Amino acid sequence: MVDKLEKPESYWQEKLTPEAFKVTRKKGTERAGSGPLNKEERSGIYSCVCCDHPLFKSSDKFDSGTGWPSFFEVFDEDSIETRPDRSLLFRVRTEVVCAKCDAHIGHVFDDGPKPSGKRYCMNSVAMKFAPQEVK
Ligand SMILES: [Zn+2]
Repeated sequence: MVDKLEKPESYWQEKLTPEAFKVTRKKGTERAGSGPLNKEERSGIYSCVCCDHPLFKSSDKFDSGTGWPSFFEVFDEDSIETRPDRSLLFRVRTEVVCAKCDAHIGHVFDDGPKPSGKRYCMNSVAMKFAPQEVK
């Protein structure tokens, strides 16, 4: 279990860029292909833009062709939480949030590469990237 970080909306509004605030705290989605991390190919760790909680590793990233950074595995079991998202009328999606601060990061789908079969479809602006050696 992760210790939750709870802050008022005004805290996040001050800390984040308008785009990051809209995505992480208002469940927005960045325009496909617009995010700087989509094409990031260096070795490193992707963490929550709000609270620095580690979310994904470069070794689990793949090019899904969607225009959003995509991963087939999470950093570890305490990285994220998932919730049903019923905001689309005809389809229930699975929302991915930061396990520490509840930031909206993206969605996970079941059409990813084997063996996990998962496709974590994330927003660039919801994450920050730190280049480093990862296994
Ligand atoms: Zn977070």
